[in-house]
Amino acid sequence: MNSTKEVYIFSPGTVSNVSCGFDVLGFCLETVGDKMVVRTSPQKGIRITKIEGFDLPFETDKNVAGVSAQALIDDLKPDVGFEIEIYKHIKPGSGIGSSAASAAGSVFAINELMGKPYDKTQLTQFAMKGEAVASQSEHADNLAPAIFGGFTLVKSLSPLEILKLPVPDELYATIIHPQIEIKTAEARAILPKMVSMQQGILQWSNVGSLVHALHTEDYELLKRSLHDAIVEPHRSQLIPHFNEIKKATLECGALGTGISGSGPSIFTLSKGESTAKAVEQAMRKVYENKSIDFETYVSKVNPEGIKVINS
Ligand code: ADP
Repeated sequence: MNSTKEVYIFSPGTVSNVSCGFDVLGFCLETVGDKMVVRTSPQKGIRITKIEGFDLPFETDKNVAGVSAQALIDDLKPDVGFEIEIYKHIKPGSGIGSSAASAAGSVFAINELMGKPYDKTQLTQFAMKGEAVASQSEHADNLAPAIFGGFTLVKSLSPLEILKLPVPDELYATIIHPQIEIKTAEARAILPKMVSMQQGILQWSNVGSLVHALHTEDYELLKRSLHDAIVEPHRSQLIPHFNEIKKATLECGALGTGISGSGPSIFTLSKGESTAKAVEQAMRKVYENKSIDFETYVSKVNPEGIKVINS
């Protein structure tokens, strides 16, 4: 019989879309994330044996971690099974990649236990099967930064092609998560079906210049690129006090502020930790005295992504 092996991992939260990069851009967080433990078991198949933090399904076909792990073992056909423990810190439905952290975590951990037979793109492909359970469609805009780290651009879904972009050293994110629920269906329904040529030109010039700014560490260009002419004007209506937050954070010297994923979290990018912390205070001030609970986070953009930890 095989002896049991186990691995502890940190699976990070992520911000997708990043203003102009709807469905393609994302970046990885350092101070926000889940922990998972995955161990081999002589009993074949996948079992989720522990979930702490939030109430999520133990059934492997309903939990994104189970679905992505199953996709991997359907391909690998290992002669062992796997037990998964999930220690959830990222609230499901927050817009900072809660489901992606779990979907990426299980496949990353199994790959480690099996001697790394798959590369990061292949792991993302398996994890997309899990993400599809949460959002009814396969996408990689949170999975790519979770698995590759740093800033990522999903060049194409079929065939899957992910570009890892450089991260300027002093780039920090501040997040505010108002504890309200935005239904994914609602966030989708509110999107325009058509965009004008003028909006298109603005958007692709911003995506291009944002990528250039990351390569050249040009914070001023980054600031001029973090705009969204297409999605934000619609989705921001679902997030209370969005415009106030945006104004207050930009007044603090932030490079840009936008919706994280499909919301309700709002992200800001800043140069340097002190600006990121001032932004946090400005965000809190807007929400204090309003009857909405919220959490805030400050995090360096995490260049490494998902990783093995000691315990
Ligand atoms: P987020 O951007 O925070 O991931 P989503 O709406 O994309 O938010 O995903 C959350 C949905 O996925 C919830 O309906 C949740 O029940 C479901 N889900 C299933 N398994 C998990 C998991 N292991 N972690 C987080 N969410 C999960």
